[in-house]
Amino acid sequence: MGHLKAEIGVVGGGLAGYATAIAFALEGFDTVLLAPAPSREDGRSTALLGPSVAFLESLGVFEGLRAKAEALTVMRIIDDTGRLMRAPSISFDSREIDLAAFGFNALNADLMQALATRAATLGERLRVIDASVDDVAVEPDGALLRLGDGSSLSVALVVGADGRHSVVRERAKIACRAWSYPQSAIVLNFAHERPHGGISTEFHRTTGPFTQVPLPGRRSSLVWVETPETADLVVDLKPERLERMIEERLHSILGAVTLDGPVQAFPLKGASAARLTAPRVALVGEAAHVFPPIGAQGLNLGLRDAAAIVEAAVAGRDDPGCTMVLSRYEAARRGDVMSRSLGVDLLNRSLLASLLPTQAARAVGLSALAAIPWLRRFAMREGVAPGAGLKGIGRSVREGIGGEHAG
Ligand SMILES: Cc1cc2nc3c(=O)[nH]c(=O)nc-3n(C[C@H](O)[C@H](O)[C@H](O)COP(=O)(O)OP(=O)(O)OC[C@H]3O[C@@H](n4cnc5c(N)ncnc54)[C@H](O)[C@@H]3O)c2cc1C
Repeated sequence: MGHLKAEIGVVGGGLAGYATAIAFALEGFDTVLLAPAPSREDGRSTALLGPSVAFLESLGVFEGLRAKAEALTVMRIIDDTGRLMRAPSISFDSREIDLAAFGFNALNADLMQALATRAATLGERLRVIDASVDDVAVEPDGALLRLGDGSSLSVALVVGADGRHSVVRERAKIACRAWSYPQSAIVLNFAHERPHGGISTEFHRTTGPFTQVPLPGRRSSLVWVETPETADLVVDLKPERLERMIEERLHSILGAVTLDGPVQAFPLKGASAARLTAPRVALVGEAAHVFPPIGAQGLNLGLRDAAAIVEAAVAGRDDPGCTMVLSRYEAARRGDVMSRSLGVDLLNRSLLASLLPTQAARAVGLSALAAIPWLRRFAMREGVAPGAGLKGIGRSVREGIGGEHAG
């Protein structure tokens, strides 16, 4: 029991918290990461898009992960809803936007291992403490964190990376709107007979997406969205029965499948904090925004938060928790967080909606993406990095190929 001091206190040792703490320490900030041990094994994988990979490379984390990550070169969407207004199948190929890959898919457990290994090399600049935070009290020139082990920590800036039930957010009195979807995601990994060729295939079904994402070798991860009742039944199925169901829903594109590891269900929820900051406090990752796994955006957004708060703090080196730093961070992240949350929510709701006009709107949207190369390239660039789509359109126009939309 004692009192500690640091410049930065990052609360929460999930993927976003670890990445944020490492980034602060690498910029020379005296950083403490409060990281209680996780309550359950994480069997999920994350599709890390290009800018996230670049960020992890800059942190010296990606080299520890590379051998366990698979490049994503093609993302394919297939309408398997069986509805009247069906959307066309569409493939996004990274080579169309001059990228070798959209990014890499890796198991969260492997990413966590790479982050923890890197954190351990940073010595006194990053102290990782296995303790939860019970309370946060804001003072004019800093904040005081009360830890579950009875000790306390004074910092200039508190970063709340403590997930969807964030104590930091609550103590900072930042309002948060939360909602649930009538869906759960069944998450599992599997080995398969045929090679995946770096292709991720998302089948859009009436209950939600069924998405296979490649892992190294003949292995893939699966995010299968169903009603909560069906998800509970699926989790309890005998492996052989479940394997047959998966092969059937994949239309046997990968041949026979064999389960590899646990089968877990995650109830799907959304949440959006009214602000990303309060005096002496900044929120990153799911403490600030939660949305369904469609489009692989969640952690990618969390890593952009991490990069942005550190960049803002570097600009206010003398006091990383001052109003100027927090305003810069809020301004840098607000638009991206709002637009991604809205986009993912709309797409998910459009899959659920059985109303014909909604089906038509989605079918028309996907038809346009399938038929119009510049629009598809815009969507791909924008999907990988916010703002990149518009720059790409500018380039198409400059190169005189803007007229391609006629084809
Ligand atoms: C099924 C599924 C699939 C997904 N797939 C993708 C994908 O492909 N790509 C993608 O980008 N995103 C994906 N996501 C989203 C991604 O998993 C999340 O964005 C990410 O895991 C959230 O990380 P986080 O660090 O913000 O929060 P969390 O992982 O929730 O971490 C919060 C941490 O804070 C700790 N904590 C909580 N309270 C306290 C406290 N009081 N004191 C100290 N510590 C505390 C917890 O122990 C935990 O370790 C997916 C999500 C789901 C549900």
